[in-house]
Amino acid sequence: MNNIRYTKAQDASQAISQIKGSMGNKFIAGGTNIIDLLKYFITTADTLVDINQISEHHAIQQTEGGGVFLGALVTNADTAYHPLIEKRYPLLSKAILAGASPQIRNMATNGGNLLQRTRCYYFYDINTPCNKREPGSGCSAIGGYNRIMAILGTSEVCIAVFPSDMCVALAALEVVVHISGPDGNRTLPFADFHRLPGNTPHIDNNLQPGELITGIALPAKGFEKNYSYLKLRDRNSYAFALVSVATGLELEGDSIKDARIALGGVAHKPWRVKGAEEYLTGKSATRENFATAADIILKGAVPYEYNSFKIGLAKKAIIRNCMMALDPQSQLPGAHPSL
Ligand SMILES: Cc1cc2nc3c(=O)[nH]c(=O)nc-3n(C[C@H](O)[C@H](O)[C@H](O)COP(=O)(O)OP(=O)(O)OC[C@H]3O[C@@H](n4cnc5c(N)ncnc54)[C@H](O)[C@@H]3O)c2cc1C
Ligand code: SF4
Repeated sequence: MNNIRYTKAQDASQAISQIKGSMGNKFIAGGTNIIDLLKYFITTADTLVDINQISEHHAIQQTEGGGVFLGALVTNADTAYHPLIEKRYPLLSKAILAGASPQIRNMATNGGNLLQRTRCYYFYDINTPCNKREPGSGCSAIGGYNRIMAILGTSEVCIAVFPSDMCVALAALEVVVHISGPDGNRTLPFADFHRLPGNTPHIDNNLQPGELITGIALPAKGFEKNYSYLKLRDRNSYAFALVSVATGLELEGDSIKDARIALGGVAHKPWRVKGAEEYLTGKSATRENFATAADIILKGAVPYEYNSFKIGLAKKAIIRNCMMALDPQSQLPGAHPSL
């Protein structure tokens, strides 16, 4: 048995000073991922620093620039059902509600969602080699059962996917992550937050040791008129995405003024290809143009033995989701858009 110390931080500076001193010290927020990782011996902790008492990170507020700031400790449920988010960022609300279960969303926090770890089967099985869990030990997924693994941005040492739904919408919305650490405060554009596996698959993101996420800044533009989140999975609830797509469109008549398309379930980070969005800009919002954009997004996709189906599935999902974004009402329960 590993003994773990437990301490509560009352504010951000206390949390940052309590985490210092050992790489084995870890923050705990909702605990829905870190506790599993500890129980399965995938990670260890000397001290767990409970950050739930930091009151200033529990708010959702409008910002001066017309955007909204999401506190890192607001739960996924409170975020999804907040009137400002439902009204101005329905894409985010929908993506969050596609994830996990109501019980988990009531505990899971926004900061923790960004830092959840992969659901690769071998990462969770400490009897198998895994470069993410134990660098240099090998990757059991590459020659193993790799049905849920990545098709884009993989490396020779890891083909895991990042499992979040919320983060796919955050990528499409181009949010900015706010961070506090021993060296002060800083911000990271969301596109630079998560990493591809490369030769360092054990490092999921660009948060430095000891840094605390304080919140997420949503820009003024929320794509509230034309948006859609589509999650394709083995079960219709309580399952991680095989492929998911977040789409936000800004239209002028039939013409696309701005487009955002982000994919989940296909890479080690939410996947966006600016070239596809630029291709759509100024074009008509047609199935044919969305299909070409899908081809641009999926260019270079590499299948493994059991996951080649993801390439075709992702193409259909992108086209279908962009079509659904033209008519968000079609996404209401019971509606069956003719796609
Ligand atoms: C059965 C199950 C099904 C799930 N299904 C889905 C799904 O379909 N879609 C989906 O998107 N997610 C899913 N999840 C994942 C869930 O969304 C995450 O576990 C949750 O968002 C993590 O948030 P948390 O607050 O509980 O994090 P914790 O478990 O408390 O922490 C996770 C990590 O983040 C660190 N951390 C937490 N907050 C901060 C902070 N503010 N600053 C710095 N570090 C911090 C912790 O140290 C830890 O390393 C599922 C989880 C479970 C258990
Ligand atoms: S894909 Fe990545 S997480 Fe999965 S076994 Fe290979 S190295 Fe580990």
